[in-house]
Amino acid sequence: MPELLVISGKGGTGKTSLTAAFAHLAREAVLCDLDVDAPDLHILLAPEIETREDFISGHEAVIDPAACTGCGQCAERCRFGAVVAEGAGCRIDPLKCEGCKVCVHFCPAGAIAFPARRCGEWYRSRTRFGPLVHARLLPGAENSGRLVALLREKARELARSAGYRLILADGAPGIGCPVISSLSGVDAAVVVTEPTPSGIHDLERVIGLCRHFRVPAGVIVNKADLAPENTASLKSWGAANGIACLGELGYDDRFTAAMIRRQAVTECGDDGPAAELRRIWDRIQEWITRQARAA
Ligand code: SF4
Ligand code: SF4
Repeated sequence: MPELLVISGKGGTGKTSLTAAFAHLAREAVLCDLDVDAPDLHILLAPEIETREDFISGHEAVIDPAACTGCGQCAERCRFGAVVAEGAGCRIDPLKCEGCKVCVHFCPAGAIAFPARRCGEWYRSRTRFGPLVHARLLPGAENSGRLVALLREKARELARSAGYRLILADGAPGIGCPVISSLSGVDAAVVVTEPTPSGIHDLERVIGLCRHFRVPAGVIVNKADLAPENTASLKSWGAANGIACLGELGYDDRFTAAMIRRQAVTECGDDGPAAELRRIWDRIQEWITRQARAA
């Protein structure tokens, strides 16, 4: 049961549109949206939520106004400016509280509780392409890496119990914490890039991260026809660095039209980008099989 991750060096490369198309073509996959800071795969897949659970991570300080004497020690000791004077006492700004527990320790009145922090929700849903595991972080909530690890664990459980042959995940753009958490231990990463100068730079960074985690990476160049010289540079850089080129796609309004209809572009016809994506998907499957044999 291989885990395939779709990522990009930066946002806006078309990563989620391509993931939705691959989800449509794969059929027998557990789908997973690991871009937990800005999830958007659900917009195209229109999931029906089957189970919903809280994502609890870390703790936060909460002052009991009835017990607070207003001595101000918590405000003096909080390095994050999270304590706000209010009337004769204080309250904690939950968006600023880092959960360090210093105020709890030093409050002479024992007026500060330290409950577990609810950072968001995660869901198991049904979509027309198969089950989807996804999440929503609350505004200002952190620990996205931990949430990614949780979603991956739940996707693997679901795939094992229901006998799915593939986990297909939409990762976050860039090289931050959620991407690192998404990459470690996956079987292969498809990197979607575009032929701009920053696209090349971002590709180099994300490929460096794949190498660090020893994850085989293949590249798809999207909107390749907008800058053929840059596309050629991307491909020669990939060839020189042993990166598989899985395909290229030209700029096509049909991606936008499909998005407006909340569909994968492969649902909207069999020619143009849909035909090319079918060829790329076949190539990806052969590539994953080769990687599995070589491992
Ligand atoms: S340290 Fe305790 S008693 Fe003093 S202001 Fe803070 S919460 Fe209130
Ligand atoms: S737990 Fe730490 S960060 Fe939060 S209010 Fe107390 S001292 Fe400040």
